[in-house]
Amino acid sequence: MPETIRLEGKSQRLSAIIKRVASARRFVVVTGAGISVSCGIPDFRSSDGIFRQIQETHGDLITSGRDLFDASVIFRSSETASIFYRWMTHLRYQCTDALPGAAHRFIRQLADRGVLLRSYTQNIDGLERKAGLAVWDPYAEKDSSGYIPWKNAQSVPLHGSMDRLVCQLCSSSFTFSEKPDEQANSAGDACPDCTARSDARAAHGRRTLPAGKLRPTVVLYEEPHPHCEDIAKIISHDSRALASRRDSKTTNVVLIFGTTLKVPGCRQLVRRLATASPENTITILVNNEPVCGKSWDGIVDYQIIGSVEDWCSRIERQWNAQTKITRWARTRKRVDSNEKENKEHDQNASFNKQLPVRPPTSKKRKACSASDSENTEVFVDVVTVGREVPDQHASKKPKPAQAYSDGFVPARRSLRIAEKRSLEDFENILASQQIQTSIQICT
Ligand SMILES: [Zn+2]
Repeated sequence: MPETIRLEGKSQRLSAIIKRVASARRFVVVTGAGISVSCGIPDFRSSDGIFRQIQETHGDLITSGRDLFDASVIFRSSETASIFYRWMTHLRYQCTDALPGAAHRFIRQLADRGVLLRSYTQNIDGLERKAGLAVWDPYAEKDSSGYIPWKNAQSVPLHGSMDRLVCQLCSSSFTFSEKPDEQANSAGDACPDCTARSDARAAHGRRTLPAGKLRPTVVLYEEPHPHCEDIAKIISHDSRALASRRDSKTTNVVLIFGTTLKVPGCRQLVRRLATASPENTITILVNNEPVCGKSWDGIVDYQIIGSVEDWCSRIERQWNAQTKITRWARTRKRVDSNEKENKEHDQNASFNKQLPVRPPTSKKRKACSASDSENTEVFVDVVTVGREVPDQHASKKPKPAQAYSDGFVPARRSLRIAEKRSLEDFENILASQQIQTSIQICT
């Protein structure tokens, strides 16, 4: 039997688990009806759950609540099918009014922190979508706005969704109306596509066709799962992703919230994920009452007894504490770095003060020689006559703005040019600009 810990206590064991989970780098979450009870949606199996309510209301036709979700029972007669449609519509309106709870927001946080590999839910209430998660919708067409490739999907509804209706005859899908007065399709309505085809035939004098009835895209007991291959592909992908991260410093966490793990498909899913990389994966079930017996030994590591909301808030508090520590460490590092830089700067300044002033280099002394000064004097005179000299070195240093306002080359720049060019080059420039007359005047 997995180690059972009560969430109410403040044991060191529980604190260590919470710290380890809060620092994990990859999460897979498996959720059941228990996380939506606080949102106003009843679960199925509890004493006041949906099964009990159905049994009390329709006990003459349906012997157990489970039968209402059993395809072999509800489509046996029009009366039981009608009860099924009414209950589905009632459940849809409850889902419309419900808002995401603490567990949904927690999963969204995992996604925002970039540590959520996938969230698998048995719920059909669509609260994951309301929480802002990217929910995989196998009925969405590729060019529609709601289409999300399965690899990008953050949440996978294992048992379908109440968001859509599907025709039982032609498999066309439609949006499920969210309110009673809405002019949209509801469970049990005739399929618009089937009706349109039948009307078109009737207009041409041909025999009409029966129209299929719309039902929610939820998966019922005793019927094949229409997307089991796609879901199996996603689970295989996630198992490989968990197994590929074999670094001992990396911790994977499989969290199971609010489910009794009684559905065979869900049990298989948990086994597959938990055993993909058992050496660095912690599997934790959080539920109000103990669920796991000896059969879960080696698969579920810890069984936390308490509310999922409390568990989520404990992890969030740990995240906040870790964030504060990280911020403090970063600030401390920055302060230390600044102090080190300032110290080095002060040491360099005191060292420079002790150095003797160096005399000008030989190049600078040459630049100040008398022969060059004569050449520069000639050049300055030429320039002031009004001729513009092209200079390929002009862009290397900033120049005063007034030097370009009237197109003249400034004297300071001309001095540098005269220093760098030989006198022959200089004369060639003058010849090309036909200013020999000015030279003669100046010399
Ligand atoms: Zn149809």
